[in-house]
Amino acid sequence: MKKVNQKNQKTEKRNWKKPAGIALMVALFCGVMSLAIALNVSNGGVEKETEPVSTKEIEFSVPMSNAVVVKDYADDHLQYNASLNRWEIHLAVDMASENGDVFACCDGKVLSIDSNSLEGYVVKISHDDGFVSVYGSLSNVEGLKVGDAVKMGQKLGVADTSAANESKQGGHLHFAMLKDGVEVDPNNYLDLQNK
Ligand SMILES: [Zn+2]
Repeated sequence: MKKVNQKNQKTEKRNWKKPAGIALMVALFCGVMSLAIALNVSNGGVEKETEPVSTKEIEFSVPMSNAVVVKDYADDHLQYNASLNRWEIHLAVDMASENGDVFACCDGKVLSIDSNSLEGYVVKISHDDGFVSVYGSLSNVEGLKVGDAVKMGQKLGVADTSAANESKQGGHLHFAMLKDGVEVDPNNYLDLQNK
């Protein structure tokens, strides 16, 4: 705008018969620019307009068929852990089913497969929007390796008593969810009450 004005000033000096026309053009130009800016502001700004708009929220399914919750998520009160004989918070939902089959709760990619005596086999899957789902206390893992793509509902393994830290609960899946690296309550994403 500054350059345009300077240019116009020079033009005015060279040809004083056209200032009215130039002034009109400048006025029109400024008007168009103001309108464009106003439209962008009303649409939430230029930057937001160029971002892909996604209104679809990521959806998760319960990772077991006819799952029964055996121990719920609790970050604000302690629950007794009979296996470890102590009271603790539980940042996961423990669930069991008749055959113990465990399925991926959403499309994603295998982030890690670990095994240790306290948690048993643990599979972690990364999903869109910074979500990670964690499947602990599995007896085995169904031919998966890190980096594999998995589909929602794909069988990952079978829940068991492999996690010594929760073995007294019987065979179950210790299911946790993380959003941007922080544990979140799976009840907020899964319809577990009716299962
Ligand atoms: Zn648990």
